[in-house]
This record gives sequence, C-alpha cells and structure tokens, in this order.
Amino acid sequence: MKIIKSRGPEIFDIELEKDLLAKNRSLAKENRKRFDDSKILAIDIMGSIGSGKTSLIKAILKNIAIGERAAVIAGDLTTTIDARRIEGEGARVIQVNTGKECHLDANLIRKSVKSLKLDGVKVLFIENVGNLICPGEFPLGAHKRLVVVSVTEGPYTVMKHPYIFKEADVIALNKIDLARAMKVSPSQLESDAREVNPDAPFIKINALKGTGIPRVIHALGLKSLL
Ligand code: MG
Repeated sequence: MKIIKSRGPEIFDIELEKDLLAKNRSLAKENRKRFDDSKILAIDIMGSIGSGKTSLIKAILKNIAIGERAAVIAGDLTTTIDARRIEGEGARVIQVNTGKECHLDANLIRKSVKSLKLDGVKVLFIENVGNLICPGEFPLGAHKRLVVVSVTEGPYTVMKHPYIFKEADVIALNKIDLARAMKVSPSQLESDAREVNPDAPFIKINALKGTGIPRVIHALGLKSLL
C-alpha cells in the first residue's frame, strides 16, 4: 500500500508555528509560577467530546466536597453547557469559549485565572476543548494532565492518538460498564496505553456512577489537599 507521510506543516509558515508554541510555553511557565505561589494544584483534563470530562470533574467535586476551594475553567468552542453542569457542585466556574480553536492555550488560562480570582482555592480543574490531538501540544501550566477516554470511542483510540497519551500523567477509561456492549477490550486499551506511556496510572471508571473516582483522586494527588 502506498503511504504519503507529512513531515510537518508544509503549507503555512513553520517559523510562525514555532514562535506560537514557544510563546505558549513561556506563558505556561508563568501560569505554573502563579499556581505554585498560591499553592494551587492545577489539573488539565483532556479527551474527546463525549468522553466524560465534565462528568469526571463533577464526580471528583462531589467526592472531595470542598465547595469554593475548588475552581473549574470549562473550555468549549461555543457553548456554556459544561459550566452550567458543573455549577451545581459548588465550585467556582468560568466558561471559556475558544470559537474555532480546538484547544485551550496558556494565554486563555492566564486571562481566566485573573477573572476567576483564585483566593482560597486549593485545586483548579481545567476542562480542555473536546479533542484528542490539538491540546497535547499546548501545555497550560497545569501540574498534572489527565486524559479521559471512553470505551464508546472504539478499540483503536489509544493507538491512533499516541501523542496525547504520552503527555498524560493519569489515564481514565470511562463508561467501563459499556465495554462488552461496545465489543471493546479494556485490557487491550490498557496495554496500548502502557506501550506509549508505561508510567501513567490507567484507571477504569464510570464517572456517572462514581466507580473508580477515589483512585483518580489518589492518582492526582488530591488527597493531600483535603
Ligand atoms: Mg465537557
């Protein structure tokens, strides 16, 4: 079979892209310093649309029950659905709409943090835009990056998105109760994940029912904050 391989962006300006990524990295460093100075643990949550990012955040908030000492930045192209869903859990929430951008960036986080006012906040969850490709390249300054993947995304999700799984500190496999119906093997997905990222804990969850949530909380280091 003939395969054409891209060696990177060939149409637009490569220098321009390098500048953009470098600028993002330096803003991410500033964000990290801001979080460290205020002793806030920041967690970037990445995954496809429908993988269960919002449900996982809600489940964690319910479990840790620290009210306004938790804050959430909900990223989305155009809607406020996620922020509204999270509001009920008592955390401070801000919605960021990226328009056509398929990821959050460090500058958007800097602006959001300014308007959220993080005094007294212990943990900041950042729900990235639903996408398994773009967010990987744009660190936000978070201490941990968690990737949520659902069995409903099919058997090849991990293999087809190696870069974002490599970036992950924790991997959560959601909707575990549907694996059989979807004819997806959780242990195969786990071994695919181990291949690209042997270090990240791989946790099987059902965010809606609360299954596996204490293990996610432990893996994120949230226990020490409570
Ligand atoms: Mg969501």
